[in-house]
Amino acid sequence: MRVSAPCQETGLSASDSAPRSKKSLLRPSMRVTHIKQIDIAILQERGIKGIIFDLDDTLVKSFEPTADPDVSRWLVQIQREFAVFIVSNNASDLRVRLASEHLGVMGIAQAGKPSRRSFRKALQLMNLQVHEVAIVGDQLFTDILGGNRLGALTILVDPLSTEVGWHRNLMRAFERYILKRAGVTHQQPLKRSGTAPLASGTASLSRTD
Ligand SMILES: [Mg+2]
Repeated sequence: MRVSAPCQETGLSASDSAPRSKKSLLRPSMRVTHIKQIDIAILQERGIKGIIFDLDDTLVKSFEPTADPDVSRWLVQIQREFAVFIVSNNASDLRVRLASEHLGVMGIAQAGKPSRRSFRKALQLMNLQVHEVAIVGDQLFTDILGGNRLGALTILVDPLSTEVGWHRNLMRAFERYILKRAGVTHQQPLKRSGTAPLASGTASLSRTD
């Protein structure tokens, strides 16, 4: 795990790392096609103060050095409301550092997701608790599994790249199969405070499902 900026150590309580529900660890709290489709108002309503993003194919296409301008502008906008961090499994410290600097966001490379270790480091650096962050990524078995193991709100996005090689395409097909079996579709209606419960089979921001 490599952090692309100096860190400060702040303590986390033991309860921060405990999963808070019995939901499937592979079931995202929310699924959207693109990060710009994330309902910021709902996150704020839920008390979310920080967002931890995956890098490759979530913010930046694989094999491209920087994000599209509209993604960069969107990140600038949301940083007025949220602390933002990048936690990436990419083995290249240089790629993560350059992308993080380009986006104006701190980042951790070689995160080893679904391990929770780098997420916990990001929480320390953001000075936030688990219930105050959303974890956003394009892979079930790293981003969503790791975020759910941590007990955080998780958001799955469609990968930005389509040309990623047979191995990754095979894994994506498996991920789509799991999502279909679980009934997780895009643009899940999220449970707002004071509204009626969601219908059976829909994902929710409720952590009791
Ligand atoms: Mg990714």
